[in-house]
Amino acid sequence: MTTPLVIGNWKMNLLTAPACELAKSLVDQLADVSGVDVVIAPPFTSLYPVGQIIKSSRLCLAGQNFYYESNGAYTGEVALEMLKDVGCDYSLIGHSERRCLFGESDEGVNKKVHHAIDLGITPVVCVGETLEQRNAGATLATIETQLSIGLADLSQEEKPRLVIAYEPVWAIGTGVNATPEQVIEIHKFIRKYLVERLGFSEEVGVRILYGGSVNSENSEQLLREKEIDGALVGGASLNLESFCAIINSAIEI
Ligand code: PEP
Repeated sequence: MTTPLVIGNWKMNLLTAPACELAKSLVDQLADVSGVDVVIAPPFTSLYPVGQIIKSSRLCLAGQNFYYESNGAYTGEVALEMLKDVGCDYSLIGHSERRCLFGESDEGVNKKVHHAIDLGITPVVCVGETLEQRNAGATLATIETQLSIGLADLSQEEKPRLVIAYEPVWAIGTGVNATPEQVIEIHKFIRKYLVERLGFSEEVGVRILYGGSVNSENSEQLLREKEIDGALVGGASLNLESFCAIINSAIEI
């Protein structure tokens, strides 16, 4: 059985002091919780202090993004080596806000996936369709392209180290979550595609998370489905009670 994974994406929210407060409270609240992996992705400026707070706890640290070169003249960018240096074990890659607002491509996602695996950082690769693509019947084709280019050229040893997050763009930050049936359909498609087209072994339990307006009211309904291995949570991860409730609903009883 795969351990569920819940990731809190704090996006561009929280100054250092409230970020540290929230991290401390999470450490306290989750001290006795087991059976779920919990990761938080604060903004870059809070990674180091938050990393210090959570380092002896069960929480792990993630970056929200990075550049795929190790160092050099890339003004304004952050290297994955820098994220690792401050304690990150995971990084989001290809979040739809990066793709839609900052023009990130599937080819760039692929470079980042390889770089992350080389450095021993777990890549959380985000895929998902826009509302226009869904309405045009292009959901599966969109995800297929994102997977085939984004995950190209991984070796058999590298494949199990991935996490995939299915995040329909129309559900992110809108308050409208995908239904469990919609999520299950896409997760099954992704799993089949990984095995049949990308050569993943069936035994490899790549975790596929759902993200898009997950909150404490809908998390149980979504996370009790065996096809849904966890959640990538934006807005609701900024609230201690909501995030803890979501984490609790991910634990298999
Ligand atoms: C996200 O940031 O990946 C996300 C799913 O946001 P929200 O939960 O706010 O929709």
